[in-house]
Amino acid sequence: MTEYVLSPAPQASVAVANSDARFAVRRIFCVGRNYAAHAREMGHDPDRDPPFFFTKPADAVVDDNSTIPYPAQTANFHFEAELVVAIGTGGRNIAEADSLSHVWGYAIGNDLTRRDLQGAARDMGRPWDWGKAFDRSAPCGPVHTVAKVGHPSKGSISLTVNDEVKQDADLNELIWSIPEVISILSHSMELQPGDLIYSGTPAGVGPLKSGDVCKVSIVGLGTLTTTIAAPLG
Ligand code: MN
Repeated sequence: MTEYVLSPAPQASVAVANSDARFAVRRIFCVGRNYAAHAREMGHDPDRDPPFFFTKPADAVVDDNSTIPYPAQTANFHFEAELVVAIGTGGRNIAEADSLSHVWGYAIGNDLTRRDLQGAARDMGRPWDWGKAFDRSAPCGPVHTVAKVGHPSKGSISLTVNDEVKQDADLNELIWSIPEVISILSHSMELQPGDLIYSGTPAGVGPLKSGDVCKVSIVGLGTLTTTIAAPLG
């Protein structure tokens, strides 16, 4: 057995609906600009340029009903409601027609963003990591199995802050569908069991502050609740 000089990190994981077992998270991929109205609000043409991706560390995941501190070094901390795809079977160069057979289940995600740091990085041609891939930046609700929920492709995706609706869209507004996203991603990276794909957010993104309660709902998948606490000292 391999000996390590430091104890290996705990396995990052998210809950599974109606189960005590958890879904071990390998990597987190995120799609940028996948709803036309959100692309427009971020100052881009919502054409069908190829989708682009960024990543977050696996241990950025946060369970449903968590309270997280307002993150460091931002004054513009944003919510982003997203459908999350949980990969069960890995693969390279997956054909679009085969894509959905690689999915284990679906969850609700909140792609938390330090928008000011993301914008500054974009303007300077620097990586997005400091805006996107920070600690506790990936709340994720329980994963629902394909057997239970099928493959959601239409229906409501919405987000509230303190019960006020901020995002309200339909999954059928995705520019790149889930099968397309899986296929395209797999032509660039070999997908592995445990990978999560945050599929992009609709229009209406905006700020969170300490004390806010943010709820993301997707038809058939329930609600993901995240509460924002004071910054860490
Ligand atoms: Mn996003």
